[in-house]
Amino acid sequence: MKSKKLLVVISIILLVIIVLLVIPASREALIRVYKFIIPGPKLLDIKRSSPPPIKGWYDWQGKRYYYLESEKQLGWQRIKEDWYYFDGQGHMTRGWLELRGATYYLNPQNGQRLDGWQDIQGKTYYLSPGTGRLKLSSWIEDEGEHYYLTGDGSPAYGWLEQDGLFYMDPENGSRLEGLQIIEEESYYFEPGTGRLETAQWLELDGENYYLKDDGRLARGWLELEDSFYLDPKSGVRLEGFQTIEDKLYYLEPGSGMLMVSQWLELEGEKYYLTEDGSPARGRTSTPDGDYLFDNKSCLLLADLSRPVIHLSYDDGPSKLTPELLDFLDKENVKVSFFYQGMMIPGNEEIVKRAYEAGHSIGNHSYNHPTFTKLSREEIAWQIEKTDSLIEAITGHKAAWFRSPYGATNQSVLKNVGKPTIHWNIDSEDWLGYSPEELKDELLKEAKDGAIIIMHDTHKNTIEASKLLIPELKKEGYQIVNLEVLFKVKGVEAEAGQVYFGI
Ligand SMILES: [Zn+2]
Repeated sequence: MKSKKLLVVISIILLVIIVLLVIPASREALIRVYKFIIPGPKLLDIKRSSPPPIKGWYDWQGKRYYYLESEKQLGWQRIKEDWYYFDGQGHMTRGWLELRGATYYLNPQNGQRLDGWQDIQGKTYYLSPGTGRLKLSSWIEDEGEHYYLTGDGSPAYGWLEQDGLFYMDPENGSRLEGLQIIEEESYYFEPGTGRLETAQWLELDGENYYLKDDGRLARGWLELEDSFYLDPKSGVRLEGFQTIEDKLYYLEPGSGMLMVSQWLELEGEKYYLTEDGSPARGRTSTPDGDYLFDNKSCLLLADLSRPVIHLSYDDGPSKLTPELLDFLDKENVKVSFFYQGMMIPGNEEIVKRAYEAGHSIGNHSYNHPTFTKLSREEIAWQIEKTDSLIEAITGHKAAWFRSPYGATNQSVLKNVGKPTIHWNIDSEDWLGYSPEELKDELLKEAKDGAIIIMHDTHKNTIEASKLLIPELKKEGYQIVNLEVLFKVKGVEAEAGQVYFGI
């Protein structure tokens, strides 16, 4: 009976020991107690391949431990250069580790804590260098590049909305900055922040661009409070005169703004920009009255409400002509020159200059004969000889003819093959009047549509012109070339006809 009782007590003790051995924490305590009571070779260690070291790694039953002074280590441990984590039982942890709200990743083979960029199970993650903490929902900078790590820790690629719009390289997730082409559209990301810029002008390398509301670079016409035009290819804002879809426009230099319903003065010339922004051509009504503009150059030719007058100079070119040309340039006045062919050789530069300045170029025969006394052949020779000399310089034959001494008849008119331009105000400048006298007389005779004859071979004429032109202007006259004179008067100049005034 006594032995039976003992058996029960022993059984209970053994049961308690077994239970304690099964629970890991109590088992460790039990082993310590055992080690304390019985030094030397341990009964439990017999099961192990070798005893745990005083210091070092220890593998047992598929788990790894680390011992220091025979103590199994727990928590984070730095061993040599690497960090490891040992759980409550001292087991070295591998793979993902969640700890106090942070996530870590430990090398699945050797348990070393990883940091920096890591590819884990086919996905890229970023583990903070130094701490190994998995970065979530935050920006990071790595080697000068910026990345955004999403809620699951993997970097964002492509468009990213995060207190602004960003674009992350679809290949490596780095944040793109500056001008970028994405799916054939251009965008601009603020350097330094990478934030998409929208609804604003952008100046880049001295060129101006516009970023639309959605950030796309604007191209072609842009309507804001004013209109602008941006190069359809590059998006560069265009300025000055521009031909857009076969139409001419003027975009204000500096601002690029389309100018409409206003006058434009450019290099001493005037234009009128109509309601749609294209410069006026031909006869145009403006809020200031009716004006005549050149069809090609769009230059203002004349104010149709004011008188026009024409000054013509015969018998040159002469050595005096350049002085007159200088004055005409200064006054921005156009006249006509009727050249004697024989005067041209040696004076080609003068002819060229007159033509390029926009003066009318006329043929005044080769050597000044009386045309009414010439045969058809002689007329033809006089005209052709001088025309060829003029054409060699300007590329064009003379558009106009003036017969020497004003001698003409139906046959002459027919044979010269150009409109003949005579005069209705004769300066008689060859009679030796003083410049002052010439000016006074011509001013007295001046009238709308008149053609005045003078000669740029007389010094007095040059001086008289300098006095006369400002006076005519003061009286409201517009001094125009023959082409403009005819256009203003709405008269078509015809070959075979003679005109004395328009
Ligand atoms: Zn003459």
